[in-house]
Amino acid sequence: AKFKKGLAKTRNSFSSKINDLVARYRTVDEEFFEELEEVLISADVGVNAVMEIIEELEMEVKRRNIKDTRQVKEVISEKLVEMYYGDDQESELEGLTVNEDGLTIYLFVGVNGVGKTTTIGKLADKLKKEGKKVTLAAGDTFRAGAIEQLEIWGERTGVPVIKHSEGGDPAAVIFDGIKAAKSRNADVLICDTAGRLQNKVNLMNELSKVKRVIEREVPGAPHEVLLTLDATTGQNAMSQAKTFAASTDVTGIALTKLDGTAKGGIVLAIRKELEIPVKLVGLGEKVSDLETFNAHAFVYGLFA
Ligand code: GDP
Repeated sequence: AKFKKGLAKTRNSFSSKINDLVARYRTVDEEFFEELEEVLISADVGVNAVMEIIEELEMEVKRRNIKDTRQVKEVISEKLVEMYYGDDQESELEGLTVNEDGLTIYLFVGVNGVGKTTTIGKLADKLKKEGKKVTLAAGDTFRAGAIEQLEIWGERTGVPVIKHSEGGDPAAVIFDGIKAAKSRNADVLICDTAGRLQNKVNLMNELSKVKRVIEREVPGAPHEVLLTLDATTGQNAMSQAKTFAASTDVTGIALTKLDGTAKGGIVLAIRKELEIPVKLVGLGEKVSDLETFNAHAFVYGLFA
């Protein structure tokens, strides 16, 4: 139920296509699977993932001796969930890692415009409402207006923002953020970072330096490195994910703007091709439009 509203576009497109297929074919045959393959690809599930799903579906249908396409529809959701989790336990992938012995640090990375600042603001609000003491660190010292934008979220959610001036050293901001978070006994520090991709090597070096400062100051941190991706950009999001995953140890994806796309299948493509779980999803522009990702709720939300 929690994804229902935000997934309306994907659900409408996906389930109407599947229902249409089921109505037209009735009995399972090769052409049915070919068309199903197209439906999944058009939802951005990703070619490799689609091939695998279709293969597994065909095997399962044979094994269970299923002839009726209506029954295949049920197997599809089962297989999508199974495929998402792979050999991992559901509980291993769901929710953000928390440091039980002190300060928890989340490092956000991602390209400008994907919704990184908004997601940080939403997460700060969510954690605060759970009773946690949150601090933000304005590590994007490059983009004009980035610091002010984070400060607006800080005011809106009642969370302090540690900042330097524009053009400052991001690693120094994060260092100060950790110091401030420790001294006010905060539970969580959320770090923003720059998202300029014009000079990839430069940005990746900057992010490594920030990460090293965090690792040095708080053993075991960062507890999550969250790559923010815009679901509406489809394959572009996939290529961004590859770029960041190649140079930073991304532990999870914050997938934004799922409400704005009919191609929610990107969730499976990312998990399958990059083996990175989706941890958070953005389902709108409001502060409350952020959910912890769960593949069950997500897949069954597509058919609801
Ligand atoms: P940043 O440059 O990555 O920090 O991006 P921003 O946080 O400034 O967000 C860019 C735009 O995307 C803003 O207009 C946000 O309101 C919008 N946005 C962010 N997350 C979501 C979401 O989950 N759904 C929708 N519909 N819009 C979003």
